Parts: sequence; structure tokens; C-alpha cells
Amino acid sequence: MILPTRDPRVNVTFTCPNCKQATQVSFDENSQQIACIHCGHTIAIPQEAVLGQQVQRCLVCPSLDLYVRKDFPQRIGIALVAAGIIGSSIAWAYVNVFWTFAILFSSALADLALFAVVGNALMCYRCQAQYRRTEQIDVHGAFNLETHERYRQLAARTGTGELKP
Ligand SMILES: [Zn+2]
Ligand SMILES: [Zn+2]
Repeated sequence: MILPTRDPRVNVTFTCPNCKQATQVSFDENSQQIACIHCGHTIAIPQEAVLGQQVQRCLVCPSLDLYVRKDFPQRIGIALVAAGIIGSSIAWAYVNVFWTFAILFSSALADLALFAVVGNALMCYRCQAQYRRTEQIDVHGAFNLETHERYRQLAARTGTGELKP
């Protein structure tokens, strides 16, 4: 479990290639390397990977293919949907049409509200590193299934095991 950092700099959450644990590190333009908080394993930051608050390429693997994803806490989203379905089923069982739809509707609305307030995160296709507080991430574009598939097959062939199935 990694708590969100209060450091205003860009931070990256990644799986350490040495100890395989999830680690979170802050960095800026002048950082030379990032170090795992668990085992101290260091990764040198590639030249020109970071420009100001902008991440040009992955610092960890170091792939150029990154995509923008809503930084949505999935567990909360799933819990909301589940609560809506369970709540409305109970109302349905008691033949209460008003409450069935009221519960369904409000859980959908809560989901939407949550979606609107969460920020964006930058993700690496290859090693699943996540970057937060980066600027101008739109240049990287949204998730592309073709690119994802390319990296998935690459990982399967090389057996790096970086990607989860
Ligand atoms: Zn480590
Ligand atoms: Zn990467």
C-alpha cells in the first residue's frame, strides 16, 4: 500500500525491477536517477526524458509509448456500482419501483461525479509505470489497443513478465 505523496513534483509509481515491489518516487527535471524505496535499486533517468513537469518517455523501461488514463480509483467505482445493484435489487424484491430506480440512478450519478473530479495519470504500455502531476500529458494520447497488444505480445515473447495478463 502506497500513500499519496505530498511532494509537488512529478511522481512515478512502478514495480521495481530488482525487488518486484511497488514503489513511488518523486523527481524533477534535474534528477539524475530514481531509487526504489524498498531495496535502493537505482534507475538512471534517460536524457531528455523529463522537461520541466513534462514526462517525454518512461523513466523505468524506458519506452516512448505512454498513454493517458483517468486516475480513477477502480475499487471505489466497482463498490459504487455493486452497492447500486444490490440496493436496487432489494427495492425490486419489495416491489418498490420508485426506490429501485432512485437507487440505480444515484449510484450512476455518484460514479459520474467521481469521474469528473479525478485527475489524469500517464501510463506506460510496457512496464505499467504510472506518472502523476505531469503536465501536457495530452500529447501522449489515450489508450490504444493496438499498441497495448504489441507490448503484450512482446512481453510474452521475451518472457520479461513485466506485463500482467
Ligand atoms: Zn526495489
Ligand atoms: Zn515503462
